[in-house]
Amino acid sequence: MALGSSESSKELAQDKPAIALVAHDACKKDLVEWARFNRGTLSAFTLYATGTTGARLEAETGLKVRRLLSGPYGGDAQIGALVSEKRVCCLIFFWDPLTPQPHDVDVKALLRLAVLHNIPTACNRATADFLISSPLLKRLIADPNG
Ligand code: PGA
Repeated sequence: MALGSSESSKELAQDKPAIALVAHDACKKDLVEWARFNRGTLSAFTLYATGTTGARLEAETGLKVRRLLSGPYGGDAQIGALVSEKRVCCLIFFWDPLTPQPHDVDVKALLRLAVLHNIPTACNRATADFLISSPLLKRLIADPNG
């Protein structure tokens, strides 16, 4: 993973590569099911999630998650910072295409940063399946800082 300029490579070096997970309310069930199905692979990663998504993932999959603030209270922005510093190798972001979000600007900002920083991003389950089964992801598990 590339490193942010403000921290030394030693501080940022991680044992495991990291994935960020976010799901809007209508999509949380879908994300939890997906994570449960892929529990084995996901356990090889450090997992970051927005508050409520992270709570459900922990409770319903048993995966250990670093929980950030809830999305509307700044969690999306926190994930955006991780993305900008390339501290996550993938973003799984099941955003709801049918419901207006009070924090729409944060949602847009996160998606913009993911594209800007070339972070592989899955916004639905089909794409998440492709990402999680990619041989490139397996290479990252073998060499997190490569
Ligand atoms: P939540 O935030 O996981 O705290 O619900 C997700 C979001 O709405 O962006």
